[in-house]
Amino acid sequence: MATSGLAAEKRDCIRILDVAIDRTTMANTLAKVESYIASGKPHLIVTADAASVVIAHRNPEFKKIVNGADLVTPDGNGIVWASKRQGRPVEQRVSGVDIAEKLCALSAKSGYRIYFLGAAPGVAALAAENLMLKYPGCQIVGSHDGYFSQDTDESVAAEIAAAKPDILLVAMGMPRQEQFIRKTENITGAKVAMGVGGTFDVFSGKTKRAPKLVQKLKLEWFWRVLLNPKKASKVMMLPTFVFAVLKEKQ
Ligand code: UDP
Repeated sequence: MATSGLAAEKRDCIRILDVAIDRTTMANTLAKVESYIASGKPHLIVTADAASVVIAHRNPEFKKIVNGADLVTPDGNGIVWASKRQGRPVEQRVSGVDIAEKLCALSAKSGYRIYFLGAAPGVAALAAENLMLKYPGCQIVGSHDGYFSQDTDESVAAEIAAAKPDILLVAMGMPRQEQFIRKTENITGAKVAMGVGGTFDVFSGKTKRAPKLVQKLKLEWFWRVLLNPKKASKVMMLPTFVFAVLKEKQ
């Protein structure tokens, strides 16, 4: 597996269920993106919440991808809690939707070229339109929906390559999005790729973020389950996560 950055063992990481997560901040994550682009080689960023740790624990192939990523950000209050319990707290939550928006703001200043892949037909294009309006000068150079067969991964990747993106954001859910990124990293030509889950649904206005009060109470996950009962399967993973963290030595 091609990894051009530092291995997880050499980075400042915590480990939950043998999944390495970087003690990174938003500022550090953005600085890393700039260095990855400057390097000219493909890099993978994973945003990890409690459910992704459990998915990785249950799926060895996906765990290999996560532990082989160049950066794994702490995306969720569960991870923040686990890091405190281990006595090595992360400074803040660094979520995929927040990184994606900051990258659009950065693109408006630096000219970085971003490609949006994923979500239902039309959603990524609408998300791109909204972000280009919000950050004038932001270079979203192409978009494609996320509903295609794995047999056509290479041809979708070739379409992406034609747009010459520096950054590829993939919103197809875990683990599909990370698998697509690793499988096609030598075709797309993107120097940084990141799975961003439901981000384009938020950017397009299809999904509303929870009200500020709900976010403050750290109950955004509960809000999402209420709006989309399909997400309940992720909530079912929480007890496994909590049990594993409580069981680990402090
Ligand atoms: N999605 C997709 N292709 C698929 C399955 C899902 O593009 O084959 C999209 C879906 O439309 C949604 C996103 O992937 O926009 C996943 O969102 P979800 O909130 O489930 O991801 P999470 O953040 O929970 O990983």
